[in-house]
Amino acid sequence: MAWLMVLFVPPLYLLLQKKPLAAIFNLILCILAGATIFLFGIGLLFWALAIGHASWHMRKQLMRENAEIIAEKMAAKLVEKKIELIGIKNEDTSSRVSPENLPPPTTAPELPVRPAPRQYAETPVVRAEPKFCEDCGVKVDDDSKFCSDCGALIAV
Ligand SMILES: [Zn+2]
Repeated sequence: MAWLMVLFVPPLYLLLQKKPLAAIFNLILCILAGATIFLFGIGLLFWALAIGHASWHMRKQLMRENAEIIAEKMAAKLVEKKIELIGIKNEDTSSRVSPENLPPPTTAPELPVRPAPRQYAETPVVRAEPKFCEDCGVKVDDDSKFCSDCGALIAV
């Protein structure tokens, strides 16, 4: 839209951009163009000068706007980086603290309890083989030296 204004009514564009001096200068060029348009087409040259003059101002304006946009983006990025840095610091402290504090109360009590019942359960299973009398074959107590049935001497 701005380009159409520059092409057809360059003084109006400069006036809207709050540049009255440039608008007046451009208006003079346009009047000269309008006055001389019928004289061998000289007016076209003034018209081109008016458009060139307005577009030169437009480029300056666009460059300023771009510079402002870039500056705003740079500022926004700097703010984002600061936020990220603060966020990373918070994440580091929270992630470092939580694994150290949480696991000990849950895992520490379970580990010593589990192996204990296994050891007690295995030891009573292992028993000495029962003794039998070599003469009569009767089962004999481990402590006794003689057979309870026939009285024969039990080999140790
Ligand atoms: Zn016996």
